[in-house]
Amino acid sequence: AKESGKNSFCLFDSFMEAVVMERLAIESGLRQALVNNELALHYQPIINLADNQVTGFEALLRWNSKDLGSVPPLKFIPVAESTGMIIPIGEWVIRQACGFIKKLHEAGYADLKIAVNISVNQLVVGNVIENVKETLQEFQLEPWLLELEITESILMESSGTSLKQLDELATMGVSLALDDFGTGYSSLTYLRQLPICTLKLDKTFVDNLPQVNNTATRAIVEGIITMAHKLGLIVVAEGVETGEQLSYLYHHSCDFAQGYYISRPIPENEVNVWLINRKF
Ligand code: C2E
Ligand code: CA
Ligand code: CA
Ligand code: CA
Repeated sequence: AKESGKNSFCLFDSFMEAVVMERLAIESGLRQALVNNELALHYQPIINLADNQVTGFEALLRWNSKDLGSVPPLKFIPVAESTGMIIPIGEWVIRQACGFIKKLHEAGYADLKIAVNISVNQLVVGNVIENVKETLQEFQLEPWLLELEITESILMESSGTSLKQLDELATMGVSLALDDFGTGYSSLTYLRQLPICTLKLDKTFVDNLPQVNNTATRAIVEGIITMAHKLGLIVVAEGVETGEQLSYLYHHSCDFAQGYYISRPIPENEVNVWLINRKF
């Protein structure tokens, strides 16, 4: 028994070593990613369920590393956050997204919004307000065209700094959305304090739709949509993968939807073709 205990400890050790090595590789690779031009934004369309029109896109970060190949955001974003690299990367994302809004204007699409994901660190440590203000000015954009997506973890940040920052961004006219709604631990009372205009219903709820026997999920989804509307908020459903889910959401007054059923995230240079070829 003692022997096997020792063995499994060794196994655990080498597993931990692999995890640490991968982290280190990501960390050192990420330091080069910006200068080596290895980052890109892909854009996932968001449609209005009432008329099927595209209302905008969510910008999703992609990293194609020279050494590591394509690394998924769920692997490198946490590393970028814990090392502080999310600050310069986040600034790059905002600049890139605003540049893209400008290009859309030049292509004749004047009212498509772009949503960008923001980490808590960018609010607490980074100078997100100045950054957004300067970038909007540089590209001469109306602020509502840029939407910032934040998660409920923002509320765990106790000092209240981020709440003040969010208020200031909202006052500037930038749109704010609460991402992954329903997965966090925050109390519903916080919802009234946040200067948001949009709730993004997490994919885990959408996944379980619209099975008739799944009364719990249906109750939660319908409850969230009703509550959001009573609070004057707009609801975007994420991760819509089937026509049944889309139709269910439409029939339950959800406002917008995004997901593979509509389109996967698209590389920037293919968005124009997607918009032109889109069938209604
Ligand atoms: P998120 O903000 O919740 O983004 C939605 C994720 O769901 C994206 O994964 C998207 O590609 C994926 N998705 C969309 N529709 C479907 C669907 O129908 N089915 C399935 N299975 N997945 C779908 P992605 O691109 O891997 O991004 C993962 C997370 O990484 C994002 O989750 C976001 O939290 C973070 N992230 C991505 N880009 C950025 C960024 O620029 N800055 C920051 N701070 N975080 C980012
Ligand atoms: Ca998001
Ligand atoms: Ca989300
Ligand atoms: Ca998510």
